[in-house]
Amino acid sequence: MQGKISSRDCVVIGAGPAGLSAAVRLRFVKRFNKIPMDVVVIDPGDPGGLLRMGERVIIGPSFIYRKGELLELLLKDFHYYNIPHIREKAISIKKEGKGFAVLTENGKRIKTHSIIIAAGMGVIHNEPDYYSRGVYITSGGYEFFKEIIDGMVKESKPPYTIVGSVKTENILPLLEPLMDKLFILTPETIKDSPLKTEQGEIVKILGDGWVQGIKYRKPDGSLHFKKTGAVFLDYNGFAISRPRPFNGLENIFEQNGYINSIECRLKGVFAAGDILGHPASVTIAMADGINAGLFCYSYLFRLKFKKDPVLYAYLPHDIIIDHNFKDLPKIKEDSIPVALLNPKKDRERFLVLCNGKRDLKEISSVLSLKLDEIKSKAIKYTQTGFLSWIRL
Ligand SMILES: Cc1cc2nc3c(=O)[nH]c(=O)nc-3n(C[C@H](O)[C@H](O)[C@H](O)COP(=O)(O)OP(=O)(O)OC[C@H]3O[C@@H](n4cnc5c(N)ncnc54)[C@H](O)[C@@H]3O)c2cc1C
Repeated sequence: MQGKISSRDCVVIGAGPAGLSAAVRLRFVKRFNKIPMDVVVIDPGDPGGLLRMGERVIIGPSFIYRKGELLELLLKDFHYYNIPHIREKAISIKKEGKGFAVLTENGKRIKTHSIIIAAGMGVIHNEPDYYSRGVYITSGGYEFFKEIIDGMVKESKPPYTIVGSVKTENILPLLEPLMDKLFILTPETIKDSPLKTEQGEIVKILGDGWVQGIKYRKPDGSLHFKKTGAVFLDYNGFAISRPRPFNGLENIFEQNGYINSIECRLKGVFAAGDILGHPASVTIAMADGINAGLFCYSYLFRLKFKKDPVLYAYLPHDIIIDHNFKDLPKIKEDSIPVALLNPKKDRERFLVLCNGKRDLKEISSVLSLKLDEIKSKAIKYTQTGFLSWIRL
């Protein structure tokens, strides 16, 4: 059924904590009587973003999520709602009419009414699978970087691959002694520096148990292989010199590659997480994701139904609440539903007919069921987060 939807409500770029929170919020904006939106997430890697790399300290030593714990919680609803995950990298975004088209590296074109950009510090492929097995990252404080590099040299065989940015020159004094053993991969060449770099981006880490090589892509699109005994990811360099995650929508980015607000300058575009350039923190990323989801929900609701959604207790409205007040907008016989279930699991004929093309009256006549019966089915599936609406 989802294949028949001509335009998504929202494409979330990035499946880190910010993107996952935003996507789930669009499907479950409130507990009662709200209309879920049709959202899809795109990310070439497994869901989780940087959460896949070890434990996360939330505030202090008494509040730590061990590896995988927080991600498991975030993924529960993501899987429960079968939110589609397109495993591709977004390479370009175009404004098209009132909406957008997101283009992926393998030529997919996804039309959407809105976008949430939650692309963090950059693309993460299968690097976390090799964390502690030949993948090292800049973590702790700056004075620990030397210790991490020393650990890499002790545990792994050269050559060592450093994946960074133009700001990887900041750790040059630590790398200099290893210079003839390094392969340095950066999106841009570092000018006036003794660091010899290969321009490109990592696509996959290869190895059986421990890192043995990398597949990388040069700017001309060609794919290459490099034998390596370890991969060192310079997240400090990524954070200082943040590359744009895709082409297009240039005017929402600041010069430093970040976006300065959850509600972007361009209508229908929202941002969340590390891409906002505030101190990197998983809880802030999740909070941004929740807010981006709620703002985006309000935007989509206004776009589709020409009025504000009632989102108390998140967003109170100054309105009179009489005995007849209903949170769920009125469903009429010419309302057009769209089922958001996984197509393979949709067994019920009613949901098969909710394909964004038929209104409730047509569905009731195809099924030879009374309109009231059809309406109560429609309300049940809307309330449980599995039915969205094109028209009400
Ligand atoms: C070494 C290290 C240790 C940390 N420790 C802590 C800690 O203890 N406590 C804490 O609170 N925070 C910690 N953080 C910060 C925390 O992990 C981040 O703030 C948080 O993960 C940001 O979430 P995000 O969703 O914005 O981005 P990310 O987690 O980076 O996720 C972004 C996702 O977007 C995807 N993506 C990027 N570009 C594209 C594209 N063009 N198309 C499709 N997908 C794309 C990526 O593949 C990735 O999956 C740490 C960070 C680092 C680097």
